[in-house]
Amino acid sequence: MTVVPSAGSNGNAGCPAVDRSSFFAPKRSLGQNFLSDPNICRRIVASLELAPGDPVLEIGPGRGALTRILAGHDGPVMALEKDSELVTWIKAEFPAVGVVHADGLDFCWEGTRRLPGLSLIGNLPYNVASPMIWEMVSRCRSFRSMLFMVQKEVALRLTAKEGSRTYGALSAWVGNFVRGEYVFTVPPHVFRPQPKVDSAIVRFLPRPDPAWEDAAALSWTVKILFQQRRKQLGTILKAHWSEAVETWCGERGVDRRVRPEELSPDALRSLARVLDPKNGAAKSVKCPSEQGLP
Ligand code: SAM
Repeated sequence: MTVVPSAGSNGNAGCPAVDRSSFFAPKRSLGQNFLSDPNICRRIVASLELAPGDPVLEIGPGRGALTRILAGHDGPVMALEKDSELVTWIKAEFPAVGVVHADGLDFCWEGTRRLPGLSLIGNLPYNVASPMIWEMVSRCRSFRSMLFMVQKEVALRLTAKEGSRTYGALSAWVGNFVRGEYVFTVPPHVFRPQPKVDSAIVRFLPRPDPAWEDAAALSWTVKILFQQRRKQLGTILKAHWSEAVETWCGERGVDRRVRPEELSPDALRSLARVLDPKNGAAKSVKCPSEQGLP
């Protein structure tokens, strides 16, 4: 590809204009909606508030819209990409960036423990953003900050509080590991190709008491409850109702007629603890060595 150091077709003086003719066609299956506005790219990276020396990992660098800015950061920069064609291109274009060819849905996020203070950033592929965030927030154990672009609707769910219409399994799960914040909305016209919906930036900071020990039971609990979110707690948990659950309700003043969406992330964690401990037996995590970060 050719980078022309000029005012550029987008009219942003000083920003490199990118000749897109030599690029591969965007792959819909990989959610490839590339950022094409350097101002938005700069605003996104600035929102991560990197300090000199901080390691940073970009998820899905694509054609390098954010990578180009991150490459100027004074600290280790890594990128994880599933598309092999883009991996080859990113490696050649940004030799100082450590590129991992891997699938973010199947990645050994526990390995980020080796990079204390890591920040994660990404304009995530919209088709898999929710399951990817589910894994990242619960399995990255020593990160400093995460900043992701997702569909606006997903951003609202990720940051929803109990009692709101958008609060669901994803909100309750994420809220048990991180503090989430809706940062800003991004319109469709800054992407190529343009998505049909608005996007938004969300930021996550670690909770001091993440639910690592309760993750398996919590995952089972939020999934079973929110599959039937219109039903009452007593009805959904009929087959699992026990004295322990009855006591939990009494101690917390929770009526069995409550609906799941009224229970806070913390309440759901403590409910998960008293439900049958066999529920959601911890899954074993595979971490093949070739998935390691540079
Ligand atoms: N960061 C670039 C930008 O903002 O222009 C590209 C963002 S694009 C929305 C999403 C990127 O994630 C693409 O590069 C795509 O190939 C990559 N991707 C898609 N699925 C992935 C997965 N499961 N694991 C890792 N990367 C993935």
